[in-house]
Amino acid sequence: MTALAQGRRFASRGVVQGFGFRPFVYRLAHAHGLKGWVRNTSWGVEIEVVGEEAALARFARGLREEAPPLACIEALESEPIEQPALYTSFEILHSEAQAGEYQLVSPDIATCPDCLREIMDPRDRRYRYPFTNCTNCGPRFTIIEAIPYDRPKTTMKAFAMCPACQREYDDPLDRRFHAQPNACPVCGPHLTLVDCQGRALAERDEALREAERLLREGAIVAIKGLGGFQLACDATNEAAVARLRVRKRRPHKPFAVMMADVETIAHHAVLRAEEHGLLVSPAAPIVLLERRLESDLAPSIAPGSHVIGVMLPYTPLHHLLLSDLRLPLVMTSGNVSEEPIARENEEALRRLGQIADAFLVHNREIYARYDDSVWFVPVGGPQPVRRARGYAPFPLRLPFLARPILGCGAELKNTFCLTRDAYAFLSQHIGDMENLETEAFWQEALALYQRLFDISPEIIATDMHPDYRATRLGRRMPGRHVAVQHHHAHLAACLADNQSLEPAIGVILDGTGYGLDGHIWGGEFLVGDGRGFCRAGHLQYMPLPGGDQAVRHPARLAWAYLRTLAPNEAERLDLGLGATERQVLEAMLARGVGTPWTSSAGRLFDAVSALLGVCREASYDAQAAIELEMIAQPGMSTEPYPFEIALIGAPQVWGKPPVTVTEGFEVRLAPLFEGILAERRQQAPLGAIAWRLHRTVAEMILQACTRLREETGLERVALSGGCFQNRLLLELTVPLLEAAGLKVLLHRQVPCNDGGLALGQVVIAHNALEGA
Ligand SMILES: [Zn+2]
Ligand SMILES: [Zn+2]
Ligand SMILES: [Zn+2]
Repeated sequence: MTALAQGRRFASRGVVQGFGFRPFVYRLAHAHGLKGWVRNTSWGVEIEVVGEEAALARFARGLREEAPPLACIEALESEPIEQPALYTSFEILHSEAQAGEYQLVSPDIATCPDCLREIMDPRDRRYRYPFTNCTNCGPRFTIIEAIPYDRPKTTMKAFAMCPACQREYDDPLDRRFHAQPNACPVCGPHLTLVDCQGRALAERDEALREAERLLREGAIVAIKGLGGFQLACDATNEAAVARLRVRKRRPHKPFAVMMADVETIAHHAVLRAEEHGLLVSPAAPIVLLERRLESDLAPSIAPGSHVIGVMLPYTPLHHLLLSDLRLPLVMTSGNVSEEPIARENEEALRRLGQIADAFLVHNREIYARYDDSVWFVPVGGPQPVRRARGYAPFPLRLPFLARPILGCGAELKNTFCLTRDAYAFLSQHIGDMENLETEAFWQEALALYQRLFDISPEIIATDMHPDYRATRLGRRMPGRHVAVQHHHAHLAACLADNQSLEPAIGVILDGTGYGLDGHIWGGEFLVGDGRGFCRAGHLQYMPLPGGDQAVRHPARLAWAYLRTLAPNEAERLDLGLGATERQVLEAMLARGVGTPWTSSAGRLFDAVSALLGVCREASYDAQAAIELEMIAQPGMSTEPYPFEIALIGAPQVWGKPPVTVTEGFEVRLAPLFEGILAERRQQAPLGAIAWRLHRTVAEMILQACTRLREETGLERVALSGGCFQNRLLLELTVPLLEAAGLKVLLHRQVPCNDGGLALGQVVIAHNALEGA
């Protein structure tokens, strides 16, 4: 070391472990002739370098400009060292687990171009090896049992590396330096094809070839993927897809399709730049695309819909399957109906034995269940619909420092959320909490997150609905409890998603949420923020005969809406209801037995869908509304139907809202229904009526928001709730609000549906107990 040597210490925050950041630093230091060290800490990476001043400056620039993109560096700080030590080399120091500290854990990442090249190259030692990975790609979250992220704490501990893999693992200049899941055909996991009794039919590459033969012949093959089993079949084979529907007991809900490359996708669907960007991103999610007429996918892939969910291969196994077969494959979660995705081989045989003809399994354990993520790109930019693989457990940043809080989430599309410092760890998609299996998955995932990120929540936030399973589980946990109103949580989630907790108007349109007055809310115009809200307005209350049951029977809803809004028409219109069913409904309505009241926007769409005969019985959530959106076409009149905004007295208030209104309003629906019925009598095309309904809801939103702006001065409008997965509704609403000078906040990192709810719950719980 010369007398000219100077030293500098760098600290970079938010670096994700396992993405080759330390080897990158090592190579950079070597390139500039610097000595010192790099090491992981709980909050990021620390570097100390010593050398000539000019080299230090080049090193600092390199750190900023050349870092691997997946390392997600949030901040890089540096300071000079007064008396630099006399290092003789540059080293990567071992990280040590320290009590109370935690590291960010990477999501699983789609196969990188380098690994893909290797598995397709007959001269490479990893040719056709389905478990190839490196520091830039492969499994992470699904194999981690505990931190720090080291091989003995992953499900790869069962596989001892061969000398060739070990050499790569130990070489800081290798792409596989400290790649914990590093493996090859000699030492790593391998495939087996088994029948429904679990008897092995073939091993290794022969297993893959045999599975491909079965798929080509129209069989259903259960494939063990990254975060659980997937059910695959030829997506162009109508008989195979129809058989999968029957066996999986899923008559209508669309299936996702995996396609070999972007060119194939562009042949089947309209592909725009932002959608393309999502498909090829390291997360490689399912993206909802507009299907092309010339696509030869089986019609029963997505009955009643011109939208298809498409993804690219994201593991070497998928790449090999797709490139061998040259066929689009249905790739749907390995479960029956709404149960969680099957994870282990035994479990898959037990639960999927009636569905799959064969099982392509492997001997690497999956630690965390992990469904495919789903995105769509409506007006305003990309939004997630389901957040899991490729995203969780990477945290969202909160615009404040939080105490340890648990948000338990909702009943449907459940995710939970844990906070620590300025991080919100939103869990991967857990699913519908309708059965004990999902409840067990929720508990198992929560325990893992608490362990990985060392969080013991002091505050438990639950939905106000007393019967939600997540609420009941949360209430049993020790700590201080905050009951959060469902639509308030949607509003807060949208604000946090946009990194700003300033007060806003919240237009929350969804299916179901427990209201402050004990009724079922769902068409809500709120003003507020994380501290509280005022329910400034809502859609008119309508009867919901049979409560949640009505969701599956839109025809009963249509009847109840007509009976209330246009009593004479209910008798005249044929809604496909039998005489007995009508009598029962009549009695329920007359006595109010089993008939809660709802202001739900989702139910309004359902009722009109059934009224028009588009969908009278629904087999999955929001089916009637989706099919209504699908047929919508602008017709002769593009004017909204009439509706009435009526004042109804003092609004309900919760917490300490920064703004309130003196008198609340209700959007009355009778004129709307009269308009629809009149058009029906004139034989207007159903698509035109469907379109005008969407236009009318957009107009309701506009009028409500301009009115609330006048009263409160608020100019920001947060759009949240599951109804905003409706692309047409967004297309009609957002420009209308913007033209009126309002600033629209849409979701961007968490779903607008109940999958984002837990984020709002923790924000509200934080505010409710702040200073308390
Ligand atoms: Zn790779
Ligand atoms: Zn090996
Ligand atoms: Zn909701």
